[in-house]
Amino acid sequence: MESQFIVSKFGGTSMGDAECMKRSAEVAYGQNSKLVVVSATSGTTNDLIELATTAEKNSWENAHLILSKIKVKHLKIARDLEMTPEKIDNLNQLFEELESMSRGVHLLKDCSLKALDSIQSIGERLSSLLFTEAMNIVLRREKSDRFAKWFDAREVLLTDNQFSKARPLTAEIKALCQEHLAIIKHTDVVMVTQGFIGRTKEGMTTTLGRGGSDYSAAILAEGMGADILEIWTDVAGIATTDPRICKEAVAIHEISFKEASELATFGAKILHPATLLPAIRSHIPVFVGSSFNPSLGGTWVRKDVEHSPLVRAMALRKKQILVTLSTPEMLYSHGFLYQIFKVFNDHKVSVDAITTSEISVSLTLDDSTLINRDLIADLEKFADVEVEENLALVSLIGNNINHTPGLAKKIFESIPDINVRMICLGASKHNFCFMINDEHGVEVINRLHQSFIGQKL
Ligand code: ASP
Ligand code: MG
Repeated sequence: MESQFIVSKFGGTSMGDAECMKRSAEVAYGQNSKLVVVSATSGTTNDLIELATTAEKNSWENAHLILSKIKVKHLKIARDLEMTPEKIDNLNQLFEELESMSRGVHLLKDCSLKALDSIQSIGERLSSLLFTEAMNIVLRREKSDRFAKWFDAREVLLTDNQFSKARPLTAEIKALCQEHLAIIKHTDVVMVTQGFIGRTKEGMTTTLGRGGSDYSAAILAEGMGADILEIWTDVAGIATTDPRICKEAVAIHEISFKEASELATFGAKILHPATLLPAIRSHIPVFVGSSFNPSLGGTWVRKDVEHSPLVRAMALRKKQILVTLSTPEMLYSHGFLYQIFKVFNDHKVSVDAITTSEISVSLTLDDSTLINRDLIADLEKFADVEVEENLALVSLIGNNINHTPGLAKKIFESIPDINVRMICLGASKHNFCFMINDEHGVEVINRLHQSFIGQKL
């Protein structure tokens, strides 16, 4: 029987240094991964962006300092992995390419998104060369018949030409995967490739946007028709709530894609579910675990899950504001919501939760939007505006939330002494959220966790 086709993605912290790389390679070996997708080493994408902006706006000496820092960091990993001079030459070629591109940016005093994408691509191209070595060290040590090979993701990851946020061309990618990568299904090769980067039809290097490696891995898993996609990070999966605020938080064994989407929108920032969409739509289950401690287990994200509890997880989003707009003109009239949402649209501000009455509407926003005072001034053209600060949004994520009698009773019985400023229910069967004072946030989450999830899942 053919073994399962597993795509494993390792993030920046899992690539932090030679030790981290070897530990991640052990995980990939243990999982029998066929295709490994890696991020740049942690902090490197930021360094590359800083290099590009310094080269554009500042002296060459300053740019050169950043270039040296990037070189030193990667050469240290290469030394720790005891790479041969020939293999180090591959790294040196990338350093030269990086230096030429940065010089170009410096001479022209111009860093287009196109140039920036090529500069950023160096991060993943370097880390994947180093990881190939780490993978081979582990395979040799384990006396495996398999060997790791470096693969340029740009051969298959075709995108449009929106530099810095390029969209993958799914159908073409599938065909290219079959052409260039299908072979690994039947060989002993572990293919190591880059996340985050792609190329246009014209051959220009693109990136999928910051944090894009998860997305690359999901696209490649879909392109290969993989059986499983694994996302290895520095936490053991998705927790029932933020463990920093609630000691009883535990890892969730499985969560549906829809629940995970609600959870991510409301504050839990492990991964952005939209990035997993290609895998989910192709019915490829996704596992999220910690490369630092794989024995801790992790979370499965799937389209369909075995159990659908009423409350699976909860999130606290702090520093929220509530904007209430009131005007008698809203009574019996139409178009009011259209007018105010147009203002939010013009200011590119995203609204989270919303409730309305006959003559008023309340909306919740992140308080960072308050910096944008013009937004409030523009809203005042249509209605009286009241802004309340220091609030927190609590959301419970689960199933059948809008069709379960007694849920609200149970929630509010747990917090009889807390004033609830706004409630939002109905739009999703996976989410119940409400606003409270920021200072009560942690207490509320702890009490709700106790009543709905308890100490054990
Ligand atoms: N290296 C890229 C970034 O830092 C992509 C990724 O890590 O997912 O944004
Ligand atoms: Mg990342």
